[in-house]
Amino acid sequence: MVSRNPTEEIITESAIWETLKAHGRGDETGVRDVLAKAREAKGLDPEDVAVLSGVSDPDLISEMFSAAKAVKEKIYGRRLVIFAPLYVSNLCGNECLYCAFRARNRAVRRRALSMEEIGRETEALVRQGHKRVLLVAGEAYPERGLDYILDAIAVIYRTKSGRGEIRRVNVNIAPLSVEEFRRLKGAHIGTYQLFQETYHRGTYAAVHVGGKKRDYDWRLTAMDRAMEAGIDDVGIGVLFGLFDWRFEILALMQHIRHLERKYGMGPHTISVPRLEPATGSDLASHPPKPVSDFDFRKIVAILRLAVPYTGIIMSTRETPNLRRESFALGVSQISAGSRTNPGGYSSGGGEDAGQFSLGDHRPLDEVVRDIASLGYIPSFCTACYRLGRTGHDFMDLARPGEIRSRCDPNALSTFLEYLLDYASPATRQAGEKLIGETLAAMPDREREIAGKMLAKVREGKRDVFC
Ligand code: SAM
Ligand code: SF4
Repeated sequence: MVSRNPTEEIITESAIWETLKAHGRGDETGVRDVLAKAREAKGLDPEDVAVLSGVSDPDLISEMFSAAKAVKEKIYGRRLVIFAPLYVSNLCGNECLYCAFRARNRAVRRRALSMEEIGRETEALVRQGHKRVLLVAGEAYPERGLDYILDAIAVIYRTKSGRGEIRRVNVNIAPLSVEEFRRLKGAHIGTYQLFQETYHRGTYAAVHVGGKKRDYDWRLTAMDRAMEAGIDDVGIGVLFGLFDWRFEILALMQHIRHLERKYGMGPHTISVPRLEPATGSDLASHPPKPVSDFDFRKIVAILRLAVPYTGIIMSTRETPNLRRESFALGVSQISAGSRTNPGGYSSGGGEDAGQFSLGDHRPLDEVVRDIASLGYIPSFCTACYRLGRTGHDFMDLARPGEIRSRCDPNALSTFLEYLLDYASPATRQAGEKLIGETLAAMPDREREIAGKMLAKVREGKRDVFC
């Protein structure tokens, strides 16, 4: 008997293809039943996801989008959490053919920021008004190894500028051992984020041609090790454009089910980056399976319906127009004002090539004004993390929909903090208008809580949350 690789129990390609063949053919029967189930906001099964992935009829697409909008609104209201990536190092020992940081790429100047430089980058982000940072690094650290990252996290938390500071550091770094993950948890990270890039083994092998990252299984089981080490906020993702997106979203469902079965909870977030052009990468300029803007919107809507309580993160890679449309369909977190080259904030952009090219170059103030003018509340909230409401505790609060009564006031108080301390006059005006309208539309109890919190912020108190 041929023994099966244990990770094939997590991602079983044959099951994905069978589900797509049986349910993803695009015939219209059953779509409305799936949408009715989806509107209950209790999530979907893989077969349902396959049904939705095959929909092409314009009327059904618009019904699907309106279901996604309803679920998004029900759970997340009109909040959008804002963060900035902080690239500390572009040293890397891997050969991911799509990434500018790959080891053999000579077109990129290698740089690992010193702790002083990381402090300066943090200060620059704090001065823009950021409260949440995603630390990003290539897979090779200066001599101190993981300690370099742990020290960097400590520096970010320690750095203050005026009345501001970073209150949550999420990290996107290469997979670690259980013991190393324990040390990372000890550094008080928020979410540990890692993307499988593609769940399709053949494609994975074709695009990862050197270094540790060639090991698909080590990467796939990273979240198991993180959870075993006690990190209960994890973020997964796919780099869309490498392989068929329908396969990838069913694989995401399998990965989520595996974590739910084994650890009693799924990921906190799913990221949906699309392949962008990168210096020194032909592959990045010619994605093997490009995902159109239309399909990207479908992906966001299907994921929102499939896992209603899992945050969806969209990066700065997308253009402002597409970002706007995606908020309504299900995106709950976005990056803003980003630089993807180490040192890019304190140098005012710098001349070094970033990891990939950005679709949105606007500063935070402009993004915030734009979001507010669309009726979305930019949130800098970090309350759950600071109150220890992570993993199971977060899900217990989130599932019955109770989270809204806390998140909305928290979003408003952190938004007001931003408006008072960092915003331009035009952004402050747009923001104050939105706060007034949002308060007026709130249920009485929530309005009372939010009103008291906002009053404290206006009196000069900072970091007010419930
Ligand atoms: N080095 C670690 C790793 O590979 O997991 C973490 C940092 S890596 C810079 C973060 C993510 O950037 C990768 O997981 C990949 O999805 C994304 N990325 C790399 N090249 C990209 C490109 N050309 N366009 C969009 N995203 C890209
Ligand atoms: Fe290195 Fe990560 Fe880029 Fe791959 S994606 S080359 S591991 S930084």
